[in-house]
Amino acid sequence: MKTVLSVQEQIKSGKLNLRDISETFISAIKDKNPDVNAFVHFNEETVRQQASAIQQKIEDGTAGKLAGAVVGIKDVICEKGKKVTCASHILHNFESVYDATVITKLKQEDALLIGRTNMDEFAMGSSTENSIYGASKNPVNTEHVTGGSSGGSAAAVAADMCDVTLGSDTGGSIRQPASYCGVVGLKPTYSRVSRYGLVAYASSFDCIGPFSKNVTDAALMLQTIAGPDEMDNSCADVKVDDYLGAISEPSDKLKVGVPKEYFGEGLDDEIRSMIENRLSDLEKDNVELVPVTLPHMKYGIATYYILATAEASSNLARYDGVRYGHRADFSKIEEELGTERAAIQKELKGASAADLEEAFNSIDSPLIRLYKKSRTEGFGTEVKRRILLGTYVLSAGYYDAYYAKAQKVRRLIKQDFEEAFEKVDVIVSPTAPTTAFKLGENLNDPLQMYLNDVYTISANLAGICGISVPAGTHSNGLPVGIQFLGNAFRETDILRAAKRTESLQTEA
Ligand code: GLN
Repeated sequence: MKTVLSVQEQIKSGKLNLRDISETFISAIKDKNPDVNAFVHFNEETVRQQASAIQQKIEDGTAGKLAGAVVGIKDVICEKGKKVTCASHILHNFESVYDATVITKLKQEDALLIGRTNMDEFAMGSSTENSIYGASKNPVNTEHVTGGSSGGSAAAVAADMCDVTLGSDTGGSIRQPASYCGVVGLKPTYSRVSRYGLVAYASSFDCIGPFSKNVTDAALMLQTIAGPDEMDNSCADVKVDDYLGAISEPSDKLKVGVPKEYFGEGLDDEIRSMIENRLSDLEKDNVELVPVTLPHMKYGIATYYILATAEASSNLARYDGVRYGHRADFSKIEEELGTERAAIQKELKGASAADLEEAFNSIDSPLIRLYKKSRTEGFGTEVKRRILLGTYVLSAGYYDAYYAKAQKVRRLIKQDFEEAFEKVDVIVSPTAPTTAFKLGENLNDPLQMYLNDVYTISANLAGICGISVPAGTHSNGLPVGIQFLGNAFRETDILRAAKRTESLQTEA
C-alpha cells in the first residue's frame, strides 16, 4: 500500500523526487479541480519552490519527518501570508498574519503545503454547498456532495490531488465527508490538538484532524500535530502516544462495543448489512463484539444544535466590519444618512460601551448601520440562521429552557460513553446513515441536513475521539464508511481497530 512513509523511502533511495511528485499533483489539481472544486487557493509557483527546497533538505539529510508529504489545508486554519476566508464573504479579503500551531508543526517537519481547501462557510454544514466558492463535488460521482463541512479536504485526498489534508470536526465534519468520499478521516479527542489559529465555530467542540488514503498516514499526521501548546491553554498537557508504533504491533484482543442505538431507524439497509459484514470479519480476527447502550444518543442532534449555535453566535460577533474582513461601503451609508464623515469619526472616537448600546437602539447611527450592513452582506444564509438560533437560546428568557438544559444533557451523553468504555475499548457504528446525497437535495431543508450528523455528533458532545474508515462500496457506486469511537486520549485504540478493518479489506 502506498503511504507517505513508503514514498519517503523511495525519495530517499532516489527512485522518486519530490519535484516530480509535486508536478503530478499540480497536474491533477489543474485537471480535476475545475470539476471537483476541492481547492480554493492554489499557487503553482509556491508549490514548486517548496518542492525544491524540501527535496534539497532530503538530499542533505536535514529534512523533517514529513518531508515528501504533500498536504492540503482547510480554509479555516490560519497560514501566515495566505488568505483565510472560511469560505465566507465576510473574510473574502482577510490574510492571516500568523501560522496556526498545526501549520507551524507541519512546516517544522517539512511538509509541503499545496493549497487551501473548500468548506462550508465557517464550517457550518454537512455538504460543502454553503461556500462562496460554490459546492465541492464528490470525486466518486460529481452529481453528489462531498459531505461537509471539510468536503474540500476529503475530495482533495479522494481525487489524488495531494497525499493528506487537514480538516476540522465540530460535529462530524471530518468523519462524514471522509465516509462520503471513501477516505480515512480522524477526529482527535477534544484538546489533543491545539486550536491556536483555527477560526472558531463552536469552541468547546472544534478539533483539527487529518484526512488520508490509509490509516498509517492518519497516524503519522496525528503524531505530528498532537500535543500541548502554550498558545492554547485549553490544549491538554497529556503525553502523546506512539500512534505509528501502536498500529504496527500485532495487537491483542480488542473489545468492540456495538450500540443498538446506532443501528436503528433511518439507517440505509445496505449500509447496515455492510457494517455487519465488516464486524463479522473483525470477529474472526480476535475481536470480541459486546452489546452496549448509549440511551441519550437520541438527544444528540438537538443538544448539539443548541450548544454549537450558542457558541457560534458569540464567536461570530467579532466580524463587525470594523476591525477586519468585509466592510460595507461607508460612503453609501454617509449618503443614506446625509452624515459627514467627520461626524461619524467623532462618534467612533468618543464611543464608550454605554454609547454603543445607545447607538444600537438608535437606528440612524452610522456605526450601527455599518455593523448591520457589513454582517448582512458578509454572512450567508446558514450562518445567519445559526447566529439567530444561538442568540435565541442564549437570551435571558430562554437560557434555562434551552442552553442550560442542553449543557445537562451533554453531561448525560458523556456519562453514557464513560459507562460503555468501562466494558469495551472502542465503539463501532456506521459513520453516516446514508451515502453521499445529490447536490442540492437537502439545501432547502436544514433539518434533513442536520440529520446527517446523527452518528458523529455525540463524539463531539462527549469530547472523545473517532475515526471513519472505508467499509466498502454501496450498490449505488458510492463509498460507505465505518466509524470507531474511542475514549478520551485513546486514539491508539481507534487507530488499531481502523487498521484491522483496513487490512481485512485489503486482504479480501
Ligand atoms: N454538520 C455539522 C454542522 O453543521 C458539523 C459541522 C462541523 O463539524 N464543523 O454544524
